[in-house]
Amino acid sequence: MFSKILIANRGEIACRVIRTARKLGVRAVAVYSDADAKALHVELADEAVHIGPSPVGESYLRGDRIVAAALATGAEAIHPGYGFLSENPDFVDRVVAAGLIFIGPSASSIRAMGLKDAAKRLMEKAGVPVVPGYHGEAQEIVLLASKAREIGYPVLIKARAGGGGKGMRRVEHPDDFSEALSSARREAKAAFGDDRVLVEKYVDKPRHIEVQVFGDNFGNAVHLYERDCSAQRRHQKVIEEAPAPGMTEALRKAMTEAAVKAAKAIDYSGAGTIEFIVDASQGLKADRFWFMEMNTRLQVEHPVTEMVTGIDLVEWQLRVASGERLPKMQTEIKLDGHAFEARLYAEDAAKGFLPATGTLHHLKFPDVAAKNTAMRVETGVRAGDAISPYYDPMIAKLVVHAGDRDAALRGLHKALARTEVAGSTVNTAFLAALATDPDFVAGDVDTGLIGRHQQELVAIPEPNDETIAAAALAAAGADAGTPAADPWSSLAGYAHFHTLARSIRLRYGEEEIQAQLSARRDGRFQVALAAPHDTVNSHDLRAAPRLARWPGHVTVFEGAIGYTFAVPDPLAKADEAAAASGSLRAPMPGLVKLVRAAEGDAVIKGQPLLILEAMKMEHSIAAPHDGVIAEIATEGSQVSDGTVLVRFAEDSQG
Ligand code: ADP
Ligand code: ADP
Ligand code: MG
Repeated sequence: MFSKILIANRGEIACRVIRTARKLGVRAVAVYSDADAKALHVELADEAVHIGPSPVGESYLRGDRIVAAALATGAEAIHPGYGFLSENPDFVDRVVAAGLIFIGPSASSIRAMGLKDAAKRLMEKAGVPVVPGYHGEAQEIVLLASKAREIGYPVLIKARAGGGGKGMRRVEHPDDFSEALSSARREAKAAFGDDRVLVEKYVDKPRHIEVQVFGDNFGNAVHLYERDCSAQRRHQKVIEEAPAPGMTEALRKAMTEAAVKAAKAIDYSGAGTIEFIVDASQGLKADRFWFMEMNTRLQVEHPVTEMVTGIDLVEWQLRVASGERLPKMQTEIKLDGHAFEARLYAEDAAKGFLPATGTLHHLKFPDVAAKNTAMRVETGVRAGDAISPYYDPMIAKLVVHAGDRDAALRGLHKALARTEVAGSTVNTAFLAALATDPDFVAGDVDTGLIGRHQQELVAIPEPNDETIAAAALAAAGADAGTPAADPWSSLAGYAHFHTLARSIRLRYGEEEIQAQLSARRDGRFQVALAAPHDTVNSHDLRAAPRLARWPGHVTVFEGAIGYTFAVPDPLAKADEAAAASGSLRAPMPGLVKLVRAAEGDAVIKGQPLLILEAMKMEHSIAAPHDGVIAEIATEGSQVSDGTVLVRFAEDSQG
């Protein structure tokens, strides 16, 4: 076993790897960018090396600096985590050339699977079923369009260098092909520096089922069963589970055999995942699955496999990389119970899952989900840390294991309902809604489920008057200094020394809410909310609402929903008025990729005006109302959060 390793990653996965290293008595070296100087992974590591500024191109993707850091600290091996350099064969070459060990497969295995088109050609040869489609070299638009027609619509355009769902477009109709192709290419070019694509048949009622494989340097390869990752938004996983619901023995046998065959075809060593797409339109059939791609690294959702097999995959990675044989034989690897993982993201589900940023002023996870369940929270942040625009906005993974699927899913729901995050928009309520979605609960999943049920899944009921009153009391400082004590008694003290009434202004979304707080003789309080709301008496409220107060805001938690109220500073009124005027601001920092309208243009509500590229994704910005454009951002300009992108002529607002 190694005595010291370096982890070329950040966030939860860096923390996760450090945990196992510590268990095995291996010292861990962290690397960090400017933005991560005080990050959790830096704190947890035995040593840490600064590798550059915050943008990933200047830090976490700088293979030269990472190798130098390993050499300088005397680390013998580098664990890449996932993302970043984990699937970069040139980085592996560099690591090996420096006399270090890469904790993962060889550069040639990664190359073989690195491009989706070449990987598919290779798998076809190895006798693994592959999604029907075009994965050739030629890229002329006329050719691709004619291939699409041959394959038959709907088709899926995919960046051959793609990952994380980027550079992928589903096309329903030939008329939309060329527009979808340009947009997929633009996104692929920006994210991967490669705009070549393949075109595939879009599989009906698709389920994403993947098989965890593991190989060693002695030619052995095993599988650790399957995971179902069909719950996806924007082709990205949000809730994963193991085993796959409704899995049949015949399909499991066929899939795991194909997966091991794929791993052996490329002499695979270390942890890897073979992703398959399964046509579930006629139930799960052993001849209705196809190879999609191989991820030659540890997967984000590896914990569900660990939960159902009792195997520490990071431990296996370290053992295999240090030259040991696979710790278990196929027949010794058993499935036990059922596990779920939910990815908690800073993102706005109601706004098309737009990534969010912010400081996590309040962050609380439950220790246990429910009786007879095991729970793990994988996170790389703590309260007070920021979700910056530089990196992936994942906050944590909630992983729950129980004896069967129903119990595990109930446990997951409970865990989500007890999770509290304030300071950024998060997807907790969306995840909880998904965990109780009737089709999801029934195990009737496919990758279109979230899209079909999107409206119900992202809908948040309006806060009721009790919730607003609790927020108003908290905003008035009712629980100031006595977070654990009865909040109402502290307001009694407050009122005693000051006037007996106080007026509070709150904002919930667009709505301004006036509240008049007054103390009654019996020591209780009355919160009179302006119409259409009612008057609420403190004795009608729950004794201790779950809430968080953070700069300028109060968040009240009800189950998995966090109702956030802004508590405007009366002095800031002028600013707000300016913000409310007819201009469109950047929702996050980014690059103005494409401008589709010009000054003086009359535009109609909903018309796309420009494309903002932020967090490696393209976001189309549309006109919020009819109007005439007075000013519009220039193509290629870099904008920060809140920058005016479009200003409408004053008298033109419809
Ligand atoms: P990435 O590298 O971005 O993960 P994948 O090829 O693994 O790309 O595809 C991501 C997701 O897109 C899959 O999990 C699946 O939901 C969907 N998908 C991919 N290929 C197909 C297909 N041929 N038919 C239907 N859905 C697909
Ligand atoms: P998996 O297939 O392992 O579930 P996804 O394909 O959903 O993972 O996402 C993994 C990809 O997302 C990585 O290849 C990387 O580009 C990006 N990514 C997600 N989270 C992180 C992170 N915390 N750090 C770096 N990259 C990340
Ligand atoms: Mg994939």
